[in-house]
Amino acid sequence: MAHILTEDDNWFIDLDRKDPITHEGFQLGDEVIVCRACRCVQLNDVWEMGPTGCKYCGSSEASGDFDRDFIEHKVSGATINKAGPIRITHKKKKKLWPYFAAGAAALALIVLLILYFL
Ligand SMILES: [Zn+2]
Repeated sequence: MAHILTEDDNWFIDLDRKDPITHEGFQLGDEVIVCRACRCVQLNDVWEMGPTGCKYCGSSEASGDFDRDFIEHKVSGATINKAGPIRITHKKKKKLWPYFAAGAAALALIVLLILYFL
């Protein structure tokens, strides 16, 4: 199932695809596998990692051969193998202004009380 990239696969190297998990380009000697569903090419190690299957679309069916036409005509356009690193969205900062407002109000009250008793 897996395919080892050789000189014959330079057309594929030239496509400059990236592995969906490592985000690294492919090199001669890499053991790769093609997803039958989305035609995404990924490292065999990535395919086998965790639940075996395509780390792009989740399909567990690999294409039997490393076919140029099949790989070049991807199913869902330019996004496959071109995706950047997964972005982690940062949690929104907690709003602090209500605490400041409460603190200021308390301070004003204390000042007023002190002035009242003087
Ligand atoms: Zn897939």
